[in-house]
Amino acid sequence: ETFEGDDTGNLTPRQTPGVLYSKAIPTPVEQPTLLAWSEELAKELGIEKPKDQKNVDILGGNFVTDTMHPYAACYAGHQFGNWAGQLGDGRAITLGEWENPDGKTFELQLKGAGPTPYSRRADGRAVLRSSVREYLMSEAMHYLGVPTTRALSLVATGEPVLRDMFYNGNAAYEPGAIVMRVAPSFLRFGNFEILNARKEVDNLRKLTDWTITRYFPHIKGENKVLTWFKDLVDRTAKLMVEWMRVGFVHGVMNTDNMSVLGLTIDYGPYSFVDNYDPDFTPNTTDLPGKRYAFGKQPSVAYWNLGCLAGALLPLLPEKKDELVAILESYKDVYWQNYYAMMGRKLGLDQVAEQDMELIRHFEKTLAAVQPDMTMFFQLLINLPLQLGSADDVTKYFEKSFYHELTEEESTALFVLIRAYLNRLNTNTIKRSASQEMMQAANPRFVLRNYLLHQAIEELEQGKDQLFLKLQEAIKAPYSDKFDEFFQTRPEWANKKAGCSM
Ligand code: AMP
Ligand code: MG
Ligand code: MG
Repeated sequence: ETFEGDDTGNLTPRQTPGVLYSKAIPTPVEQPTLLAWSEELAKELGIEKPKDQKNVDILGGNFVTDTMHPYAACYAGHQFGNWAGQLGDGRAITLGEWENPDGKTFELQLKGAGPTPYSRRADGRAVLRSSVREYLMSEAMHYLGVPTTRALSLVATGEPVLRDMFYNGNAAYEPGAIVMRVAPSFLRFGNFEILNARKEVDNLRKLTDWTITRYFPHIKGENKVLTWFKDLVDRTAKLMVEWMRVGFVHGVMNTDNMSVLGLTIDYGPYSFVDNYDPDFTPNTTDLPGKRYAFGKQPSVAYWNLGCLAGALLPLLPEKKDELVAILESYKDVYWQNYYAMMGRKLGLDQVAEQDMELIRHFEKTLAAVQPDMTMFFQLLINLPLQLGSADDVTKYFEKSFYHELTEEESTALFVLIRAYLNRLNTNTIKRSASQEMMQAANPRFVLRNYLLHQAIEELEQGKDQLFLKLQEAIKAPYSDKFDEFFQTRPEWANKKAGCSM
């Protein structure tokens, strides 16, 4: 008996002091059926596509081999700015670690394989909807070049899962599914926070040393905890720059959803922005404060790093100032990388002082006009170098708009584009080189919420055509191969179309 159901109705997870994980065996499902398989990831891992039911059973949690030691990780977290105490993997079970032919190791984790000691009153399951979202989007992020956890397989369980549909208030059954997700490690800030909260300094030191030795082997010596923290500050800042580059909004940037490897982790109510709105949050429970809105992500990441710094402090009693200085370096690292990234999006040969002003000019105008971010930057790549009037400019970008521009907006856009064309004139690189730079920095295909929504609805009706097409399109986000999707979010698609649970 590895799992004790919480029959007290208590909403706190089973407390597991002194340990960082609990044994958790997947609960078998009715009928595991393979829906999708990431061929390229499988190749990288050196894992063959399941040919028989026995292997599909592993991916559905119905079969645990002798060499697997399944467990659920214990972690805590700050959720929406508040200390939430112990959380833990409530519906993720790590089967073990896999070593690929190159000697790299990967944590293989089933999401939705049944309850663990950390499930509270929830069922430990995942619906097809949320599983498809995690499966496709984590792979899409990989092909966009954004650091992320991956997804190897998507398995239908053949079992219904009861969910509150919080948009219409009704509870309904939905088909269940399980994703096998893959990362060098799923360790989060929260794994460190829990040990600090419990004042288990020895365990905190052990976990930190182990993490560094295992995943940051180049970091050695007396100052290794500080060096590691600096590395993570840099990685996290760069990850935020990447999210801003492609217009990704995570939606639940709680510290239990922050990777200590600087990966995008935990795909829930995420969305791309579509129209450029720094205030956009895809998380309906985040609507009051919009804490996790698109434009706030970089500062939330900094705040989260502050939580981690606090958790590491007991290991650095004499080095608080250095720790704080490293935390503060986040801002410089972020802005430096941000402006360099924007320079590439705009095809600039370099980013000088005045260019930062131009970049801020872009931000301001885009936030006011709110064109489709992806389409706007695509159109910018082939911007004619002679654009006569404000009307011409407006007409040129028309495809990317969600509303007819007012006179004021049209003028603002014209002023911006005129400034941009002047700047392009001073580029010391060829126009073609500038355009290549832009093509590499600006995705042409992003996995929009409404596409996911459509694909999932079809899958639920047994049709997989759109799903299969999206599975291909995510692999070529910088090409025009899938220009059938090169359009703004259609009117019927409300931005909340995809949700998390
Ligand atoms: P998230 O907001 O997805 O990061 O989840 C927050 C916490 O709730 C994590 O500890 C999850 O493991 C847990 N959780 C979410 N959904 C479920 C579920 N269906 N069953 C059990 N635990 C869950
Ligand atoms: Mg989570
Ligand atoms: Mg989640």
